[in-house]
Amino acid sequence: MKPQDAWNIAYSQLEIQLDRPSFETWLRGATFLGFEDDTFKIGVANPYAREMLQHRLYRDVRRIMSDVWGARVELAFEVYKPPAAASDGEDLPLFRLLARQAAAESEPLHQKVARPARPDLPESELNPRLTFNRFVVNAANRMTYEAALSVAEHPASLYNPFLLYGGVGLGKTHLLQSVAHICRERGLRAVYIPSEVFTNDLVDAIRQKTTAMFRDKYRSADVLLVDDIQFIAGKESTQEEFFHTFNTLYTFNKQIVLASDRHPSQLHTLEDRLRSRFAGGLIMDLQPPEFETRLAILEMWARERGVNLPRMVAETIANRARTNVRELEGIFNQIVATTQISKRALNVHVAQDVLDGYRRPRHHITLARVLDVTARYHGVSVADLTGPRRTQKLTQARQIGMYLAREVTQASLPQIGEAFGGRAHSTVLHSCNKIAEDLESDDLLRRGLEAMQKELFTGLD
Ligand code: ADP
Ligand code: MG
Repeated sequence: MKPQDAWNIAYSQLEIQLDRPSFETWLRGATFLGFEDDTFKIGVANPYAREMLQHRLYRDVRRIMSDVWGARVELAFEVYKPPAAASDGEDLPLFRLLARQAAAESEPLHQKVARPARPDLPESELNPRLTFNRFVVNAANRMTYEAALSVAEHPASLYNPFLLYGGVGLGKTHLLQSVAHICRERGLRAVYIPSEVFTNDLVDAIRQKTTAMFRDKYRSADVLLVDDIQFIAGKESTQEEFFHTFNTLYTFNKQIVLASDRHPSQLHTLEDRLRSRFAGGLIMDLQPPEFETRLAILEMWARERGVNLPRMVAETIANRARTNVRELEGIFNQIVATTQISKRALNVHVAQDVLDGYRRPRHHITLARVLDVTARYHGVSVADLTGPRRTQKLTQARQIGMYLAREVTQASLPQIGEAFGGRAHSTVLHSCNKIAEDLESDDLLRRGLEAMQKELFTGLD
């Protein structure tokens, strides 16, 4: 290995391994100047950096440099001002340069042309329905709602990080995306990402040697919103990377917003250093809405859909789904769909019929079942669904199946992708978003989904 290359590798290692402020303050932009007598000569920005590196950071940097070089080395730091012509390198941090090189080397032109354009990054998509004005506020969650709103209006100046926690279907994702919407409206780069996607992105980046681009993507956000952070607990390399992302953003005064299904103190496999970072901000919870709030939410949905919802029906539904707004939504949708299909009036009898047939989702339904029902419903085979062919019909069936899997199983995006023939998690997310959007206007689609769900739930308790 050439000494210059060894330094480049060590530099990117240092970026990961040193704490963020140290790296940014003392090492960012450090330049390889030469190698002689087992000593790496490194140019740094100013005498303070030289002092720090020559003393406090010396052992750490030498250890990493020696590991990369494969033999023990010494270091000599010198103050070095790059010649004006070379200042290009300053605008392009090393990782970007490396990423460029990697991109240039790894992909002959004809491959670039043959491959279809990548759709917009799905993690940057927000659901337009998840906004503050569609979040019904009640006494129990008012404080949390207001905290989220003030974070959205004054990012990085009040509560950083802001962490929301609460049970399934209580509006965590809804509030996170509401914050993201407001930030984007104000021209900020708000990146919303489920933590499982963050993890998989990282794994992909490591495999494809594009960690530099990965970092660039997350560390250049003005506001980073990571959903379902409980899924990174126990995953060491993800926590490591997230810790550094967190520190970078925090150091540069960027807002971080997190959602978890429980309080960080209950995330037992979460590293302590992350836990204490989380605790350094504001932690708020969401409680299940009480009866009156459930009614208010139902009324809002009915109004939006132009459905006349008698009070008795609303009360019947609100009595059934007590702890989870997502379940409330599922029941509401199913009742509305049933009246539309059967052309019956929306009354307590219909509601009761649906409730009698309604089974709590998400427990016993396997991905294999979802594949099976989706295939049957679309008149294709499971092999077609999981295979490579991309006719319009198959593509749509696949998207619907993925959406359904997301709704009725507890499988993660990567698991769903795997079940559907090894497709990328981003494809799954894109499919789910696409179908969710189509559902707004496509009655036929909605009925189809209801029918498939009904089939999946039959015979379960
Ligand atoms: P979580 O992320 O906590 O599991 P979500 O944010 O996905 O829950 O919420 C589930 C569904 O319930 C979403 O459709 C969301 O819009 C809706 N919802 C939850 N809480 C409220 C609320 N207070 N007002 C209106 N809709 C809500
Ligand atoms: Mg959620």
